[in-house]
Amino acid sequence: MKLEDLYRQVIMDHYKNPRNKGLVKDPNYKEIHLHNPSCGDDITIEVKLNGDIIEDVLQDGTGCSICCSSASVMSETLKGKTIEEAKEIIADFFNMIQGEPLNETKEEELGEALAYKGVSQFPARIKCATLAWKACEKALEDGEEDE
Ligand code: ZN
Repeated sequence: MKLEDLYRQVIMDHYKNPRNKGLVKDPNYKEIHLHNPSCGDDITIEVKLNGDIIEDVLQDGTGCSICCSSASVMSETLKGKTIEEAKEIIADFFNMIQGEPLNETKEEELGEALAYKGVSQFPARIKCATLAWKACEKALEDGEEDE
């Protein structure tokens, strides 16, 4: 199987069977809503922190397959990570989407999120792929301000 086909499968799987979908509207969760007007993507995420650990990530919304699947992949990738680790993974994801090469360790950390590597060739879709990740980045930033 070609790598590209494998990546396409990951994206379609997360699009059809989204993980961590649905919001709880619980005060213990930090909620961030982001909209991508160029495509119509609309994503809300909820993040629950336990000290330094991202205990839970939930996502919900509507949009294209790239955006919705990426939100699902993001939730799986960042759940259980420390805030520090998550911030690094998010930064690596943004770098990858901009077409920057990553070393093997960073690729391993990104896991299924590597499926969006090819998006760097489609600038119009970059916002779709990064929307949920930006929401999570924002949730983690806001979390620090509270302390
Ligand atoms: Zn989109």
